[in-house]
Amino acid sequence: MFPEPKFGLSQRGNLVVQIGEWRFNKHACWGSKVRWTCIKKKYGYLNPVFAQSQRGNPVIMIGQYRFNRVNKYGSRTRWVCVKAKAGCRASLHTMDNAIVRVWGFHDPLAHTSANRF
Ligand SMILES: [Zn+2]
Repeated sequence: MFPEPKFGLSQRGNLVVQIGEWRFNKHACWGSKVRWTCIKKKYGYLNPVFAQSQRGNPVIMIGQYRFNRVNKYGSRTRWVCVKAKAGCRASLHTMDNAIVRVWGFHDPLAHTSANRF
């Protein structure tokens, strides 16, 4: 059984399609051909930037998204999207300053509406 694809708009107004837990970006359009690229693939292209928030907490910036550090166990560190409180479910793990695993996807609603807190 394959889940129904749902169409929506990304933060930047690009068309995205959600199939189950996967989200795809409309990548290119040649004539009638449309290529969809899994959004998670993006994490491989973008280098994470380790930075500090205004309050001095460690954050990771990946493209347009920012992640807060949640906890650390062993050599692994868990991070969640800064919009987690607004309902975004994206999170990731790092090990030795490299992203080793990404969970969930960014909820476009959590990122677009500023009044959800
Ligand atoms: Zn997010």
